[in-house]
Amino acid sequence: MGVKASLELARQDWFASAGFDRTEDYRPTRWAEAYLNFAAGEKLAWLRERGITFFPVVGWAERGGYTALQHGNSVPRFHIVWGTGPAILEPFITRVREGVRAGLVTALHRHRVDELIVEDGAVVGVRGGRLVASTAARGQASSREVVGAFELRASAVIVTSGGIGGNHDLVRAQWPARLGPAPANLLSGVPASVDGRMLGISETAGARLVNGDRMWHYTEGIVNWDPVWAGHGIRILPGPSSLWLDATGKRLPAPLFPGFDTLGTMERLARTGYEHSWFILTQRIIEKEFALSGSEQNPDLTGKDLRLLAQRVAPGAPAPIEAFKDKGEDFGVADALHELIAGMQQRSPKCPSMRSRWNGRWWAATGSSTTRSARTRRSTRSGRPGTTAATGSSGWPARTSCLIPPPAR
Ligand SMILES: Cc1cc2nc3c(=O)[nH]c(=O)nc-3n(C[C@H](O)[C@H](O)[C@H](O)COP(=O)(O)OP(=O)(O)OC[C@H]3O[C@@H](n4cnc5c(N)ncnc54)[C@H](O)[C@@H]3O)c2cc1C
Repeated sequence: MGVKASLELARQDWFASAGFDRTEDYRPTRWAEAYLNFAAGEKLAWLRERGITFFPVVGWAERGGYTALQHGNSVPRFHIVWGTGPAILEPFITRVREGVRAGLVTALHRHRVDELIVEDGAVVGVRGGRLVASTAARGQASSREVVGAFELRASAVIVTSGGIGGNHDLVRAQWPARLGPAPANLLSGVPASVDGRMLGISETAGARLVNGDRMWHYTEGIVNWDPVWAGHGIRILPGPSSLWLDATGKRLPAPLFPGFDTLGTMERLARTGYEHSWFILTQRIIEKEFALSGSEQNPDLTGKDLRLLAQRVAPGAPAPIEAFKDKGEDFGVADALHELIAGMQQRSPKCPSMRSRWNGRWWAATGSSTTRSARTRRSTRSGRPGTTAATGSSGWPARTSCLIPPPAR
């Protein structure tokens, strides 16, 4: 694909972004080195052996835009699996099932670990509760009613219980001061089951937790109008062309363009004192370079559907994006600039009177909120020249912040 990458460049990008500078970074550094070697070496063949292939377009996520020795990817590195998340999981699930059939693996669903058993200074097993059977759909919160107990012993115990993104109390408790105050309104990129509970349980058993403050959030989060779980946030995968304004109407400074530096952007937006920003784009931009994260939002890639995929180059935005434009509470749509600004003003009722001083002929905009816990935010909309104002069917969400017009061009 013409991308000139190398192990050295990947290492430079990774280490510049990670900023390993603490004593406890010893193991994360070793892990990063090992992963980089794997990625530059056997990884592609290893994935192919398992039937995993890629959509032949590489995205340039987190490009940073600072100097070569600061945060960001120097080259595009974001690969999309053909079939998205389900296709990554499939070969591993198949293998586990084969193991179950062969008697090598025991899968204990609805068994919740509540304690690590420590004997003579070593973790030798787990104890917990058996939860009542559940028919909850994927992502829906299932019952936590305990109907029994269990205890298991093993020669090695590895905790792989995931992150904290579904537990906003924990996210707030670990929120680092350098990111500004934690937003009051967080969305979740993960279901409630990602509760971070095992972190405390592991610590009680003697585990050393490190780098809890080094959390990752996306600023480009929007409320999923059709949520799979409570507070479900979807991330916009933006191209660089959208105009991004903070809540007060000021354009974000370089290099805080969409998709360049999510934490840097969040820090900057938090300093405005408001929790939303404005992501402004035209219909042409939305069709060309606006995508949404998540397997449901990309049915062509997830379903390996070439006919649906071909529609990406046809006029109009893909159906999931159109659905967000129509139904997403974060989207506002207008066909004339003054109507767009009126809609933005309506969302910022405490703002001093604002008059249009832009000379742009037509823009589409949406408000955006700065956060989502494990990724999310608010966003945009589009318009076509010569038509009259419209808003998304859900209307403009009520907001209390101010919007100040940008200077005349
Ligand atoms: C919005 C979003 C977008 C992302 N995009 C990408 C991407 O594009 N590319 C990428 O590579 N990564 C991406 N990630 C990151 C990636 O999805 C996660 O890093 C990965 O899924 C974490 O996997 P895990 O196995 O560590 O944890 P999980 O998938 O959370 O699995 C943890 C498991 O442990 C179980 N568990 C937890 N507590 C207990 C307990 N007490 N007892 C028993 N079982 C327990 C849970 O039920 C769960 O099955 C994204 C993440 C988010 C949120």
